[in-house]
Amino acid sequence: PMVRGHFLDQEPDLAKMVARIGSNENPYGPPPMARKAIAESIEKGNRYARTELKALTDKIAAKEGVSGDYIMMGNGSGDLLEKTALAVFKDGGNLVSADPTYMSLIRVAESIGATWKPVPCKADWSHDLDAMEKAIDKDTKLVYICNPNNPVGAVTSTKALTDFCSRVSEKVPIFIDEAYIELVEGADNKSMVSLLKENKNVIIARTFSKIMGMAGLRVGYITAMPATLDMIKKTAKGGGSGIACTSVYAASAAMDDVEFQNNTRKLNTEAKNYLYENLKTMGYQYVPSFTNFVIFPINMPGKEFLKKMVDKGIVIKAMDIREKPWCRVSIGTKDEMKLFVSALQEMS
Ligand code: PLP
Repeated sequence: PMVRGHFLDQEPDLAKMVARIGSNENPYGPPPMARKAIAESIEKGNRYARTELKALTDKIAAKEGVSGDYIMMGNGSGDLLEKTALAVFKDGGNLVSADPTYMSLIRVAESIGATWKPVPCKADWSHDLDAMEKAIDKDTKLVYICNPNNPVGAVTSTKALTDFCSRVSEKVPIFIDEAYIELVEGADNKSMVSLLKENKNVIIARTFSKIMGMAGLRVGYITAMPATLDMIKKTAKGGGSGIACTSVYAASAAMDDVEFQNNTRKLNTEAKNYLYENLKTMGYQYVPSFTNFVIFPINMPGKEFLKKMVDKGIVIKAMDIREKPWCRVSIGTKDEMKLFVSALQEMS
């Protein structure tokens, strides 16, 4: 693997930090309509929210243009990345993905004996789809694609990805993690969900943690062929009493709060442009990002950078990519980005 994350010996006390820009959260959430729905839902918390969860599932299905049996809900999309890994790799096999990419599904697959076949991203940090197709062999059980890709922020072209998924899913299921898709501006980036209309074996993951501003409320879903979802559900048979009542209500309301989503996208782009300007002035070579985070190479060891930032009350991520140290900073509020920029200025 080409990426190695850095961690401090002691976890910082997050409550004391002045800028929490390390986990790609949405600084503006939860959406006003979701806050109201949560308040109203509290008195229903003595009951299992089965009916409400079914209603949320159907609402999501309608939005995605599929029927309810194409949707599986989870406590965040991370929950479903893990469940998919446990189901698909219970008898071993290998998994093909880009490197760098988001490692959660891959780590769980490896933990139960699967082998990871990493395929380096291209020079522009998009997926090398040709090389990924070549990496598939008779033991490949899943291809994982994260688009836009974490931690690099790059997108892979919709047309190239559609062709790839359409053809390659005939051989092996393809998992497309679209956690950041709603934040994309300035690129043509469409969900792969339309491939389900052609009965393609794709699994699409979406989350309420990013544009919907509900990371701590834990709601996500996957959309796939009903037979694929049955296979995944079989592994967790009997379990899963669902999602917290408050979160179910919040998610349904968040979907209606289009103004909040549009505002998030706008403020994210503004704060990102402010960061770009300042990184440019300081001579940092950032990777253009279509998400709410940006990576750029730094000129000191990652752990030292991390420590210096935390000492200033700023949480970011530092990682080695291709043996060199990089910072991944999430886009917070403009004020948080100002704190980050001044910290960087003091350090260089
Ligand atoms: N997928 C990607 C690409 C992510 O970056 C994250 C979180 O940062 C997740 C999935 C999981 O998020 P959640 O479990 O909050 O939906």
